Amino acid sequence: MTTTNYTNANFFDGAHDGFTPNSWFSVDDMTGRVVASGTGSPAPADHEVDFHGQYVMPGMINCHVHVGADAFHTTDGPDNEATTTMMAIKNLRDAIQAGITYVRNLGTSYDVDIKIRNNHDRYGFPTPGIVAAGRAMSITGGHGDGADHKDGDSYLVDSPDEMRKATRQAFKNGADCIKVMATGGVMSKGDDPRDVAFTPEEIGVAIREAHARRRKVAAHAQGTEGIRVALEAGIDSIEHGIYIDESEAGFMVEHHVYLVPTLNAVEAIVVKGPGKIPEHMTRKATEFSQAFYDNMRMAVRKGVPMATGTDAGTPFNDFKEGYWNELDLMVNKIGVSPQDTLYAATKNAAELIGVDADYGTMEPGKFADFIVINENPIADINAIRQDDKQVYQHGERRF
Ligand SMILES: [Zn+2]
Repeated sequence: MTTTNYTNANFFDGAHDGFTPNSWFSVDDMTGRVVASGTGSPAPADHEVDFHGQYVMPGMINCHVHVGADAFHTTDGPDNEATTTMMAIKNLRDAIQAGITYVRNLGTSYDVDIKIRNNHDRYGFPTPGIVAAGRAMSITGGHGDGADHKDGDSYLVDSPDEMRKATRQAFKNGADCIKVMATGGVMSKGDDPRDVAFTPEEIGVAIREAHARRRKVAAHAQGTEGIRVALEAGIDSIEHGIYIDESEAGFMVEHHVYLVPTLNAVEAIVVKGPGKIPEHMTRKATEFSQAFYDNMRMAVRKGVPMATGTDAGTPFNDFKEGYWNELDLMVNKIGVSPQDTLYAATKNAAELIGVDADYGTMEPGKFADFIVINENPIADINAIRQDDKQVYQHGERRF
């Protein structure tokens, strides 16, 4: 075995608060895993990389992306399997360059996320690690069943039996998790975030099928009633959560259910959307944004577990700046501390998406997925925006 020592770092390992100065860690070059870390001078190794006092932290995780979506072409984006795949490859490259070494994809047509997860090594292009939901579950006419719905888009599910069949098919196709559209949404034309979609029985079947395979279910859930239905059925995470109320937040604290706020999905539409995307989207987003931020601040105050996700691929919400904006909004819009924001982006995210045995922290035994930046993101979260940051996966430098 040969090892590489990374030395002279300000090091946040993802498990302990703060950046510890004058730190080192060593990585097994064969396995790409961290073998030890400490401060001062390490025992000699085969290779050494001196970080000269830069800031090193675990690679970040985006728990909610849509790899096949084009953030800058809302109405004429990818519409077949080839264009969806090409878009996904570009988005995933942007994500790594941004410092994101793992993503959870929550709904992409043609199971493109599953196919890329299975084949990117073979065809020689780096991607973040991928937890893939494949095609999402939607009710007929729900968020996930637009007028242009075609074969290969969401599963359309209208009874508990259909849900059983669709989730089993998704797992057969290679899904790592299940995404259910539990309410209406901002992006879809014919419904409203306050609309309840699946019945408790339908969601319950999805959760039973997933949990029977030790997998998780994420719910797109925006209205109060739909959030309640998902929580009572035993959902593993609430995505967006626009109209979450105090009792639901309390339930999530008590049962350790993660909230993935996707703040930038709303902010980007409100700020950059008017005049450029369909009016129903900007109108809904603007109408709901104030309540959204108020409710997110309430959830932060109550201590709801949070993991970082952006809904990347929605209008003007790309895989790079969109993520940096999300961290900025967590700190400066809803009052998460910079330290807790870094946990949401690393350790918490890894736990939510189910990869925490190998990722999310830089403790010995885990993969050496990390980023290197010039300034301290706890002093200023926007240090994370550095465009020429170094990004490593399994001890190999990608950028
Ligand atoms: Zn989404």
